[in-house]
Amino acid sequence: MSDDADACGRERHHAGDDSFARRTIVVRNELPKAGLKLPREVYGLLVDTLFRDSRSLVIGTATTIVAVAVTAAKTQSLALAACCVAILVVISARLVLIKRYLADPAPVATEASAARWELGYSIGAGLHCLVLGIWCLLCLTTTTDGFAQLLSAVVTIGCAAAIPGRNFGRVGIASIQIGGLFLPLCLGWILQANWYYAFLTLVTLPFVAALRIMCQRLQATLLDALTANNKIGVLAERFDAALNNMPHGLCMVDRETRVQVCNPRLTEILGLPRTTDLQNLTFSDLLAKAGATVSLRTSGPDPLTIEPMLHAREGGSIVIEIADGRSATLTLQPMSNGGTVIVAEDITLRRETEDKILRLARYDTVTDISNRAFFVEEMTGRVAAADQAGTHCALHFIDLDRFKSVNDTLGHAYGDLLLREVSDRLKGLLGSDDLLGRFGGDEFVVLQSSVADEQQASALSSAMIEALTQPFLLLGKRIKIGASIGVALTPIGRIDVDLLMQRADLALYRAKTAGRGRWFFFDAGMDQEVLRRRTLELDLTTAFQTDAFELFYQPLVTLETMRIGTCEALLRWRHPERGLISPTVFIPMAEEMGLITELGARVLHLACVACRTWPNETRVAVNLSAVQFQSDIVETIQDALWSAGLPANRLEVEITETVLLQNTSSIRTALQRIQDLGVTVVLDDFGTGHSSLSYLHNFPLQKIKLDRSFLEDVGKSERSLIILDGVGALIQRLGLAVVIEGIETDDQLAFVRGMKHIDEVQGFLLGRPVPRDEIISVLERSALGSRQSDRLDLLKAIACAS
Ligand code: C2E
Ligand code: CA
Ligand code: CA
Repeated sequence: MSDDADACGRERHHAGDDSFARRTIVVRNELPKAGLKLPREVYGLLVDTLFRDSRSLVIGTATTIVAVAVTAAKTQSLALAACCVAILVVISARLVLIKRYLADPAPVATEASAARWELGYSIGAGLHCLVLGIWCLLCLTTTTDGFAQLLSAVVTIGCAAAIPGRNFGRVGIASIQIGGLFLPLCLGWILQANWYYAFLTLVTLPFVAALRIMCQRLQATLLDALTANNKIGVLAERFDAALNNMPHGLCMVDRETRVQVCNPRLTEILGLPRTTDLQNLTFSDLLAKAGATVSLRTSGPDPLTIEPMLHAREGGSIVIEIADGRSATLTLQPMSNGGTVIVAEDITLRRETEDKILRLARYDTVTDISNRAFFVEEMTGRVAAADQAGTHCALHFIDLDRFKSVNDTLGHAYGDLLLREVSDRLKGLLGSDDLLGRFGGDEFVVLQSSVADEQQASALSSAMIEALTQPFLLLGKRIKIGASIGVALTPIGRIDVDLLMQRADLALYRAKTAGRGRWFFFDAGMDQEVLRRRTLELDLTTAFQTDAFELFYQPLVTLETMRIGTCEALLRWRHPERGLISPTVFIPMAEEMGLITELGARVLHLACVACRTWPNETRVAVNLSAVQFQSDIVETIQDALWSAGLPANRLEVEITETVLLQNTSSIRTALQRIQDLGVTVVLDDFGTGHSSLSYLHNFPLQKIKLDRSFLEDVGKSERSLIILDGVGALIQRLGLAVVIEGIETDDQLAFVRGMKHIDEVQGFLLGRPVPRDEIISVLERSALGSRQSDRLDLLKAIACAS
């Protein structure tokens, strides 16, 4: 037999076996087969029956001793007197054994100890019966006293009849006892050598057999009872363990909804002490004790109380709110006996997490106001409600001016702070029915509910601009921004949220292009503007496919010699209906449409090819878009030089500040690699953006082009002279060349010539952008003059003519 299973097929548990809970223990209800061992607990209980209640033993033995003593006295037989003494000794020994057994705190705790007690009992009981049997034998063989013989036989048979009543639990012991009694008795009868006595022996045999059968039957009945009891005990233990260790609360109620079973987890979930008296409580009483109320029915029909649900025996689940703020779900499952099982789950944490997720999905993390998705969802409802009420809603699209520069210069921490402050200021201006949201970046939106007319909407717009124009104080820093707003009103009788947003967006676009810090209402003309832009986008796609672009070239003149050192390539789009279109219109579009990388590569190639044909080693300057740096611009430049066969030192690339604002280290590397090729890197439009001086030494640049805005106040104020001269000197001191663009007048030229720190000049006065065919003649003709002044006159004349 294996170690893990005993004779009954029952698995034993090993201490620390973690699979215990998962094992199914089958306790068999039928009798163990002959020769198989009993379960330990049952065996122990059987042994225990032998020692319990020794009253019958004492009474029986007392009668026997008296009977033996009477026979000894009547017959004056010493042998019978000895029997009397022997019985006294045996019974004393048995009583001592029983006493010791009863004193043992766990006599049948182990199989071995039970077996030891059983053995002791067997010996005592066996000897007891044997002495009685011998008493009968002696009465029959050593005396002729009929009374003694009759008495001994009657007492012995009487004792035998009592055996099943006392020792049925162990059939083996009963058999020994029966044997001990009857074998000497029958032997005595046989030794009488009398047929009638022999017949007595025959009559006794069925009686003996019947005694054995009685013992067996009684043992079987006892065993059944013990086994059933044992099974109930095990089941109860398991049920208890399951109830006490389950993560859910569980309660069983009867058909009157009175609590029958309830685990500690349920009281814990309800926030009640473990010791709560549940006697005669209905489940509703229990909820009332916990101060719990039903808040939501997740299935089944109304109403929101639990009692009708329990009585209706329909099952379902509900959510309850407990007095301490937690919540739980109760799942009701009717049982066939009319009662209900209620399973409770604490959902406080899950709810909190769900709320958190919902918040994240609905609100902007920086400002804690609605994000785009939630704003649009809410707006749809409000617009429909306003439409029904016959009023308008106004949608304000707000774009912060100069926010980007705060973010770039002071960092994102300041940027976030600013956004929060903006959101707070806006909140302060809104009514309780108005909605505020952030669509990302520096775009805020306001939906103004119940607007009677445009005036009401424009009053809010101007108040918002006014509020956002006031300086902000962030961590001790005074920051001034502003805002542009586009407003659109919902038309009555038409609910189209997309259209409303499109209109507000168009109005905002107009506000921004009109010079910022202003608000604009949507008007129908703006739709036309969009239509025009859409058409232009389509046309640009076609132009890209048919290559309808041309390069014009504009000279850059070295101030000292008045010779053209470089020509800047400027892209033109020859539109079939609208003529030449400026790059300021279509370059941003090409950037948005993702065409610029390919277009820029074409420009580089064409410019390099053109430059190859130019006299006097004249260089070409090509403008690069920031977007081009997102792909491998160095390789594109190399390809252009290689395919045109142009030496790298004849190419200049012009970048703007936007390039430097991108990922600094990769941009620096790209610029360095360009410079390593031998190409000159020029920073264009210096003075229009941040004009951060840190760029000048943080990036590998060789030339700086000052924007023409530097020349705006020339001749009017001394300040512009000081600034221009100072900036030029600084740049030169860093070892970089200085160009100034936008020279349109003789005064401006004279002013620039008067300064020491400008290397090159560019402008309509000295040369306009001309097509590829014309630039060669410009280059040739302008070089004809032998003196500097001649060459200047020539340049001016040519520029004037073109
Ligand atoms: P930019 O690089 O600053 O080019 C100078 C712009 O100023 C040119 O305008 C030029 O025609 C104009 N300009 C030159 N001298 C004067 C002057 O004396 N007075 C005035 N008022 N304007 C003058 P254009 O050709 O319209 O180009 C505008 C911008 O488009 C360029 O500004 C450049 O940023 C961009 N661009 C032009 N071609 C390309 C190109 O191939 N690729 C890229 N990415 N951008 C280009
Ligand atoms: Ca340029
Ligand atoms: Ca420029």
